[in-house]
Amino acid sequence: MDLTWSGSEEAFRAEAREWLATHVPTEPLPSGDTRAGFDRHLEWERELFAAGWSVVSWPKEYGGRDASLWEWLIFEEEYYRAGAPQRVTQNGIFLLAPTLFEFGTKEQRDTLLPRMAAAQDLWCQGWSEPGAGSDLAGIRSRAERDDEAGGWRLTGQKTWTTRGAFCTHLFGLFRTDAAAQRHRGLTYFLVPLDTPGVTVRGFERLDGDEGFAEVFFDDAFVPDSAVLGEVDQGWQVAMATTGSERGLTLRSPGRFLRAADRLVELAAAHPEAAADPLVDWVTEVWMQSQAYQLFTLAQVTDMVEGRSPGARSSLNKLYWSELDIRLHEAALELLGPQGQTDNPWSRGFLFSLAGPIYAGTNEIQRNIVAERLLGLPRK
Ligand SMILES: Cc1cc2nc3c(=O)[nH]c(=O)nc-3n(C[C@H](O)[C@H](O)[C@H](O)COP(=O)(O)OP(=O)(O)OC[C@H]3O[C@@H](n4cnc5c(N)ncnc54)[C@H](O)[C@@H]3O)c2cc1C
Repeated sequence: MDLTWSGSEEAFRAEAREWLATHVPTEPLPSGDTRAGFDRHLEWERELFAAGWSVVSWPKEYGGRDASLWEWLIFEEEYYRAGAPQRVTQNGIFLLAPTLFEFGTKEQRDTLLPRMAAAQDLWCQGWSEPGAGSDLAGIRSRAERDDEAGGWRLTGQKTWTTRGAFCTHLFGLFRTDAAAQRHRGLTYFLVPLDTPGVTVRGFERLDGDEGFAEVFFDDAFVPDSAVLGEVDQGWQVAMATTGSERGLTLRSPGRFLRAADRLVELAAAHPEAAADPLVDWVTEVWMQSQAYQLFTLAQVTDMVEGRSPGARSSLNKLYWSELDIRLHEAALELLGPQGQTDNPWSRGFLFSLAGPIYAGTNEIQRNIVAERLLGLPRK
């Protein structure tokens, strides 16, 4: 394995680093899961877009730089290293966009991607329902054909919709064949949230921010062009989105490399802990973040050579979500009583606890690893 970067990759890194050094806000922005904080984050997203940094790996015609996957990883590393703001557009650009590139029509890509890159359309993920979380195939929201109007009428409820209250569009799964069971008869829809018959109701998370929404559909009409992929084949399309969510794009190693470095800085600022087993703990999570980086480099090598990660993206998800908790727990230990106050580490810790739940719970990921990678029996 050759771990050296090429001259052009180093030049790309230098350009990104220089731009970020002069543009990243010097003060942290307020939480992107509040209305005011979200708006501030959007200003930042638009600044990124104007300078060509919002979607580096996309083709130029859609607002990107045609950057390779390697360069995308480099950009992510530099982004976190610079302490740049959280990407509130992530559900669109990291989850939906790869699926649009794979399954979208040219018209869908031409219409939707440039607006997504520019943070004009803001996408949320409408999959979970009150009775369908881990058991996503239990979806009951339905879409009924309206031949006369040339489209579909959506009815039902989605929940846990991250930043749904602040977004403009939703991608979601609806049952189009009432007689079909489970994974069959579902269709993937792209829905503007201002469609008549759609009601969005934001609600608070454990930390008090309005990070979630419930979305209700009451005979909401969408045209045929709102279908992504084939009618009744939505499960297959959704699994492509899931691969991005669990695998490469949602949580790149740059995030954990930077957090682990911050943890080492925190340990250095608390020399009283130096004789403690805490140092071993800090060292361990620092090494684990490096290991995640190496794992990702191997994964990108596979992808570049045409081998899809498939079910192996469940391994990424297990690894990053558990690493994130260990990392934040170590920080809280180092901080002692101060760790119990409201500060970036304690907020990060609260959010890390959600890692084993969102993007499919870790129990479900272990089932996938057991059955699909290890070939163990289902029961
Ligand atoms: C921060 C956060 C953001 C989220 N954002 C979104 C979003 O934007 N859009 C969206 O659609 N959803 C979102 N979700 C919802 C998330 O996808 C669901 O919470 C998750 O899929 C689990 O579903 P559930 O909450 O219904 O729990 P359940 O499915 O009821 O699971 C409860 C428990 O039972 C376990 N369990 C269930 N089935 C099995 C099984 N077969 N084997 C072993 N254990 C099992 C689970 O692992 C879990 O521990 C978000 C969740 C969080 C925490």
